[in-house]
Amino acid sequence: MSSTYRYIAVLMSFALLVMANTAEVMAKKTSYDNKKIIVLDPGHGGHDKGAQGMNGIYEKTISLKLANIIAKELKDKYRVFLTRTDDYWLDIPGRIDAANHLKADLFISIHSGGSFLHKASGISIYYYNEISGSANILENTALKTIKSNDIQTLWHNIQNRHKTTSHVLAESMKNCINKHIGFAKCRVQGAPAIVLSGADMPAVLIEAGYISNPADEKELKDAKVLSDFAKSISKGIEDFFKIHN
Ligand SMILES: [Zn+2]
Repeated sequence: MSSTYRYIAVLMSFALLVMANTAEVMAKKTSYDNKKIIVLDPGHGGHDKGAQGMNGIYEKTISLKLANIIAKELKDKYRVFLTRTDDYWLDIPGRIDAANHLKADLFISIHSGGSFLHKASGISIYYYNEISGSANILENTALKTIKSNDIQTLWHNIQNRHKTTSHVLAESMKNCINKHIGFAKCRVQGAPAIVLSGADMPAVLIEAGYISNPADEKELKDAKVLSDFAKSISKGIEDFFKIHN
């Protein structure tokens, strides 16, 4: 065998080895991929600080902290992705695109305040509903109209087809939160939350208390409260998947 042929033979056996390894990786990936995909979306970030508490804590900080605690709670059972993992800004189409391209099974946007009603407090879970009287109590960022055409042309109102399942998911989470969180009652409402409108999977927006309310701010700084929140949301998701697998 000439040195050229020997070189080609070595290259071919190397290629076969790579292919075999790739097949093994693919096989592992397939079993791993059987897990449901959950995208957590910590609201705000970067220059967009969200609401601010009396003691100076920002909503963007609480939402990321809570998302990380929820992710830790979910990661053994599900594949969990965060739309942002640090303090940077991400526009709404970017958040939705991430979930849609991952073909996520659930999209959960996490917020903690900024209500138009100064006295707003407690916990709310919103599912997408184009026409709702509750719209006026949703915070500005979650509701704002996107100037870019991206969301309208790509995913606009696609959430309508998941409205019923999103509502079931919200109720399931509410039931668990009300069992385990003492500081406030959780309520479920439909609202035209723009961050949900383009999500092509069951999706909810959680207002985990209102940081602009001093009593809620105190609770949201408590590690035990955040951990109970994460456990309740995890249980709510588990219960939801028992019905909608
Ligand atoms: Zn927010």
